Amino acid sequence: MASPRSTLRIVNHELIGPSTRALDVVRTDGAPWSSVRGKYVILDTGLVLPDGKAVKRAYSLTTVDGDASRCRLVVKRLGGGPGSDALHAAPLGAEFSFSGPWGKLVPETGLDDETLFVATDTGITSALGVAAQGPQERLTVLWLRARDESFFDVERAHAAIVSAGARFVTATIPGVGTAGRAELAWALVDACVAEHAPRVLLAAGDGDIVFPLKQRAFPPSTVREVRIECFFHNPERKSA
Ligand SMILES: Cc1cc2nc3c(=O)[nH]c(=O)nc-3n(C[C@H](O)[C@H](O)[C@H](O)COP(=O)(O)OP(=O)(O)OC[C@H]3O[C@@H](n4cnc5c(N)ncnc54)[C@H](O)[C@@H]3O)c2cc1C
Repeated sequence: MASPRSTLRIVNHELIGPSTRALDVVRTDGAPWSSVRGKYVILDTGLVLPDGKAVKRAYSLTTVDGDASRCRLVVKRLGGGPGSDALHAAPLGAEFSFSGPWGKLVPETGLDDETLFVATDTGITSALGVAAQGPQERLTVLWLRARDESFFDVERAHAAIVSAGARFVTATIPGVGTAGRAELAWALVDACVAEHAPRVLLAAGDGDIVFPLKQRAFPPSTVREVRIECFFHNPERKSA
């Protein structure tokens, strides 16, 4: 479904990690951000690559306490990445055209079954967006991250998810591109499925890990539905 293009404005920003910038954004049309859970916007940085391609990038929406007019984008700077570089350099008041919110991770009716959300790396933003639209007593979030990952503070993620009534589990896996990473991630997912017996599996982050979850054989009477969002390494990559 087509979404009309809108514009958002940066109204606050904060460096919350060595390479992580949180941007509070409002819509310039004054409309509230209606449904945030697991959704993202595709933001047009205004840059154009030498091959003529516009630099448009997706960022997940997380909430800002008690203020429906604001959303927070949490952006990891990937040295040399044009999209994340542009968002780390953008000043207060900068405006960007965007489409969305998009995303079908969470059904419109909400999470009405036991659910496991597997987030890898920056995929935690999507899990935070889902948890924030609580109460989420039937949700478990498993965050898989590299030992040296400084994208988002673990204690902060834990507090946000537990305060929504959900369970939070985290484990370290080898860094992106390291041997054995996906295999360990899948073993950790299997253990979490065995423990919590979710009926629905949501996953966001590294496509090398989350995409194969769609084909994974889980024990009978557990996962019957898998919905994923590949933040990077998307084998089905469409242009934004
Ligand atoms: C639905 C969706 C939601 C997203 N939400 C967020 C979000 O909330 N926060 C956020 O920071 N990013 C998010 N992303 C990723 C974001 O859209 C960009 O891909 C990212 O910012 C890199 O863009 P770039 O132009 O800086 O680098 P690019 O030149 O596009 O990418 C450089 C390289 O980095 C790889 N890469 C991208 N992300 C990562 C990562 N996390 N770890 C390791 N390698 C990576 C790419 O595969 C590529 O090889 C999301 C992506 C999708 C599809």
